[in-house]
Amino acid sequence: MTCEMCEAANRIEAGENPFAIARLTTGYVTLCATQYFRGYTFFAARRCVPEIYDLPIDERATHLHEMVEVAQALDRAFDPRKLNYEALGNGTPHLHWHLIPRYETDPHPRGPVWEDLNFLRQFWLGGSPPDEQSEQSRRAILTQLRLADVEIEREYVGL
Ligand SMILES: [Zn+2]
Repeated sequence: MTCEMCEAANRIEAGENPFAIARLTTGYVTLCATQYFRGYTFFAARRCVPEIYDLPIDERATHLHEMVEVAQALDRAFDPRKLNYEALGNGTPHLHWHLIPRYETDPHPRGPVWEDLNFLRQFWLGGSPPDEQSEQSRRAILTQLRLADVEIEREYVGL
């Protein structure tokens, strides 16, 4: 069976994902096509494993460290009120994180994003094509990743 997330990684490497930002040692940083929450970003493991504890222990430590550095880069880029971190993988059991900046202006600031029906509608429709704001966000995230404690193996954004 083919894995949706592995196929997505192949498209990133082929330069076919206009939301891709960077490849780190253990994962890909990609802007979510749904920017209802500005800066919503995925950090997807390069290794195809369903659970965090399936990663070899050194790689697990590096992966978690990189995930946190990506989250902090989002904080610096967008100055949200709160960051949300979620690894779900019920539909696509390949380890990936939803890193979601939450703002004062959120309609439902105290609940998970999955309780916001307007967000869900956009998310399940697959989001929007890239636009000027998503380009700005990708550049802002890459700029902050360059200042983070991560090794950027490949960049997919021109600054
Ligand atoms: Zn996979």
